[in-house]
Formats: sequence, C-alpha cells, structure tokens
Amino acid sequence: MGRQGDGSSVQSIAVEALKDGPSPFVVVHVPHASTEIPAKYGKSIILSQKQLWREQCRMTDAFCDELYDAPEFPVRIVAEYSRFVCDVERFRDDRLEPRAKFGQGLMYTRTTFGKRLRLPDDELREEILREVYDPHHERLTAAVENALERYGKCLVVDGHSFPSSTIAKPLGILTRPDFDIGTDSYHTPDGLRDALCEKIKELGYSVKVNTPFSGAITPMKFYQKDKRVSSIMIETNRRLYMNSSDMTKSAGFEKTRQAVHAIMRCAVDYCKLLNNTL
Ligand SMILES: [Zn+2]
Repeated sequence: MGRQGDGSSVQSIAVEALKDGPSPFVVVHVPHASTEIPAKYGKSIILSQKQLWREQCRMTDAFCDELYDAPEFPVRIVAEYSRFVCDVERFRDDRLEPRAKFGQGLMYTRTTFGKRLRLPDDELREEILREVYDPHHERLTAAVENALERYGKCLVVDGHSFPSSTIAKPLGILTRPDFDIGTDSYHTPDGLRDALCEKIKELGYSVKVNTPFSGAITPMKFYQKDKRVSSIMIETNRRLYMNSSDMTKSAGFEKTRQAVHAIMRCAVDYCKLLNNTL
C-alpha cells in the first residue's frame, strides 16, 4: 500500500481527459465556514447571544465556501453546521485530539480563551457524532475513494482562514502572513508545498508554512497508510477579504478569491505532473 497506481491505459485516458477540464481527483474540504447552529444542538450552549456572536466572529472561517469554490474543482465537502455544533476537523477520539484537553475537541465545551461554552453532555456528543460528524466524514471518505477508484490518486485541498493577528505574551500583537500552507509529513509532498509557496509569492503575497496553524486533513481510512492521497491546507488571512468585527465581506473579497483559485490551480497542476510519472 502507499504507492502510485500501475499506469493502466484506462488511467492514462483519464489523465488525458483531465488536462484542461475539471479536475475531479481534487476534493475540496471546507470545515469551518458555516455559522448555522440548529436549536437542538445549540440548546446546551451557555454563552449569551452576544458572547456567542463574538466567538463566532473569531472562530468562523466565514465565506470560505465561496473563497474556495473554483469551478474546476466541483467536488466540495462543506460542513453544514458551525464548528460550535461540531468541529469536523478534529479527531473523532478525544484521546487522539490535542485540542480536547482545552475543551475544543469535536464538541466544544470551552471558548478560545477557556471560558465555559457548554456543559459536558455525553448524550449530546453521541448524537452529534451520529448525526453530524460521522455523515460528514463518510461523505469526505467516499469522495476520496471515488477519486482513487477513477483516477488512481486524490488531492485533498483543506480550505480555511485565520484572524489577522494574535496576542502572544510577552511579545504583544503578532502580525501574521497573508497565507499559511499547512502540511502533513506523510501526505504532503515537499514539492507541492514549495510550488504553492512560490505561487503565493509570485502573486505578491506573504506566506509561511505551518504558521500559525499546521496540518492538512486526510480521512482516517487513508491516514498515513496510502500515499496516493495527497493533502494540503490553504489558510487565507481574513484581513485580505473580510471584516472580522461584523463578519462581512470587504472590498478585497473578489481579488482574494481569484488568488485562492490560482493557488488551488497551482496545486492541481503539480499533482497532474506527478501523475505523469505513474
Ligand atoms: Zn478553519
């Protein structure tokens, strides 16, 4: 397991067909764009409406469903609900999830600054696993499986955004790069990471790798088992496209969206080249 396909003629034809058209071997994953909190999942949240809104402004990757919606990549798995219902980017098992000890496993019980957000509720956690987390991951896994079956490879593009700055004591306010590329030591080829960084600089933006956030999602079925699945996270600084105080788009939205699409295309071009060596 873990090697590329066998270069069969069917695959070669598929690759040929992909050269200029849509790229269905790409699966775009957008986990944090929604603000929707249905009453049945939100009833245990103990923050006031105002506190919850402030927390949502801080934590929601607002508009990423539009930012990462390049038409060439029609396979998109977008989380339906807010991360305050369920953070689908977290490990299913809290024992594997580093953020769980801060109350931010897949069902948050604490805010970013450690304030109590909801009381622990095992029954609700089970319900959320069954109704939200598992169906989301089934969709993601099925999309990756489908790409592997049809094209012998898959590229997962994990689309996020992050706040423009952070307060880090004792250093004060730290400014952050325009883009952050998150990598996985097993699923992100170094060349893919480097190609994206080059492209971002060429477009006139600053970029860091795994700073401020690291990693890139891969479904557990393939995680650190199957090299045919490549994964990369593209994180966009919110100052480029939105006003974080009221979660509205800024004048830079469309320009940033086009830049994000160009970065995504660059990732796909790299993977197409990779495929030629099958
Ligand atoms: Zn995110």
